[in-house]
Amino acid sequence: MTTDTAEDAVAREARRQGHRVRMTLIGVGNAVLQAVMVLLFATTGAAPLPVAVAFAATILVTTTTFALLVRTGWNRRLRDPALVVPQMTSSFVVQLVYLVLAPRLWTLFLVAVLVTFTFAMVSFSPRQFSVAKWWVAGGLATALLLVRGRFGHPGTGDVDLLLLWAYFVLSVHQLTLIGSRFGSLRAQLSAKNAELSAALARVHALATIDELTGVPNRRSFMTALTEERARAERGTRPFAVAILDVDAFKLVNDTHGHGVGDAVLAELCRVAERTVRTQDHFARFGGEEFALLLAAPTAGPDAERAVERLREAVESHDWADVAPGLRVTVSAGVTCWRAGESAEALLARADRALYEAKATGRNRTVGVGTQAATADVAGTP
Ligand code: GH3
Ligand code: MG
Ligand code: MG
Repeated sequence: MTTDTAEDAVAREARRQGHRVRMTLIGVGNAVLQAVMVLLFATTGAAPLPVAVAFAATILVTTTTFALLVRTGWNRRLRDPALVVPQMTSSFVVQLVYLVLAPRLWTLFLVAVLVTFTFAMVSFSPRQFSVAKWWVAGGLATALLLVRGRFGHPGTGDVDLLLLWAYFVLSVHQLTLIGSRFGSLRAQLSAKNAELSAALARVHALATIDELTGVPNRRSFMTALTEERARAERGTRPFAVAILDVDAFKLVNDTHGHGVGDAVLAELCRVAERTVRTQDHFARFGGEEFALLLAAPTAGPDAERAVERLREAVESHDWADVAPGLRVTVSAGVTCWRAGESAEALLARADRALYEAKATGRNRTVGVGTQAATADVAGTP
């Protein structure tokens, strides 16, 4: 179990690192695109060539450095292994510096800032976003103040317009790449949710089903009893409970071995499943004891008959498949719920009825308070 969890953690971290590598590569892709565009704008005169070359060099070196840091795994030593803050900061600073150096390309640099921001969406906390917002506001204000008077557009020539158009279209394309990363993260999240639901169902089964016999366990029985009791309190619909105990089970274990004893308990549950009505609740109460909740509407004699049917089914069952010559019988105590009574009081009375069945010869059903309770719940004075 522990190794499983450790392996899971390793696999999870590998997936995260893979995501980081892809994100930094998208960053390099963005840089290449912008570098090429700015260099092309240098040919139309919208940006000075040395500035364009310097920009291309700066942005390619910074993004490639980040990609290498992540690719080599160096980033794993950091508290922020996705390097979101350093990547955002360097990109933002580079864009603003070059906005000042090539103000006619201001739209390109601002679009790049927006594209960079979408990268941070997965990783940034709301606090980081609000801090980043103030940096953008201050940084941009400073840059705009510095280029006051030198503002302009790339140019009105066909090539300038074509380049501007191409840059916007390609930026939209970059955004869709990032968007598809979000999409796959969402898909991973849904898959995780499905896994979690399955695990929860497994935990629920483990908590409510008896492992040996596959029937509901005591906890599940008590839940059903509490619910039935609440329903009965609202509508005073009668219901009954029975406790059944395998007769001389110690002898079965001693004679045939514990394995056969286990098989008897499991087989007995198969017999019960065939005999018990669907609305009733049969459960392993513990050891070789079983409980049966006879759901409403069940009058006392009906309940006794139903339990007696189960007792007979066990007695007449062919146990030879479990062990040659084996005979299994159960004793049962039945009682009806009385208005206002607690589950504990009800079970204690069923237990007394079972004790009486044991004391008066075993392999029999004894009802205690089944007649009186019927009269009570039927409203007869
Ligand atoms: P009685 O007729 O009075 O009920 O006699 P008994 O032998 O059935 O009752 P006792 O309480 O003396 O013995 C119950 C035995 O059930 C003892 C215990 O080892 C056995 N037992 C309890 N749980 C299991 C189980 O899960 N598997 C097996 N094989 N035996 C079990
Ligand atoms: Mg017992
Ligand atoms: Mg017993």
